[in-house]
Amino acid sequence: MSDPPKSATFLFYGELNDFLSRPQRGHAIQCRFRGRQTVKHLIESLGVPHPEVGSLRVGDRVLTLDALVENGDFVQVYPPSLPLPLPPSSTGGEEEPIRFVLDNHLGRLASYLRLFGFDALYRNDIQDNELAKVSSEEGRVLLTRDHRLLMRSCVQTGYWLRSKLPRLQLLEVLQRWNLAPLARPFRRCLRCNGLLKEVPKEQILSKLQPLTRLYFDEFRLCSDCGQIYWRGSHYERMQVWMARVIQATTQST
Ligand SMILES: [Zn+2]
Repeated sequence: MSDPPKSATFLFYGELNDFLSRPQRGHAIQCRFRGRQTVKHLIESLGVPHPEVGSLRVGDRVLTLDALVENGDFVQVYPPSLPLPLPPSSTGGEEEPIRFVLDNHLGRLASYLRLFGFDALYRNDIQDNELAKVSSEEGRVLLTRDHRLLMRSCVQTGYWLRSKLPRLQLLEVLQRWNLAPLARPFRRCLRCNGLLKEVPKEQILSKLQPLTRLYFDEFRLCSDCGQIYWRGSHYERMQVWMARVIQATTQST
């Protein structure tokens, strides 16, 4: 005995069209299904990951992702309005305004986020199931170029990066949560995400090159991997670049 076939229509707005094929974009899409199906399931069967959805409506009714779709429903699916509020799980009394975990193709973006002081967990050997688990258990926003990874049911907050270019990806992330005002440079290790702490010069004297020893007096040390940082010419170049990035985020919003 099988359930009678049902049908619902979905219309996706704005940036959610990025997940659809060209002929589908901006058009109502008919979806046939059987049995009891949630909005979340049917939306994902059409290619749109649930963490990208802002709100859902059928007529005047606002739906949650777990709502069941009825035969004949016309479901309107909206992206969230930007900038997004900071994820609540990241703000529970900790110093971090937002925390990320990045898939293993996003090493450059991870370094950029750390440069701006944000907690960006990244390892190039981490598996997809572990990424989803860490995102869920630690309240980290999952950043990825793989939209199927965002469809894992345990992922609460995540974002599919539209650009393949790390610098543009950084802009996307800063703009999505309006993070530019929260940037705290010279705070995190670019290599390993560890927090930097000030260290007296005499403690690290033997590890410094002669010219660095001569010209610089303020140093920070990664509490995890021991990397030493100072405000040399590379730091000044980074400051200029960061100021440009921050300006770009405010210009295009
Ligand atoms: Zn480190």
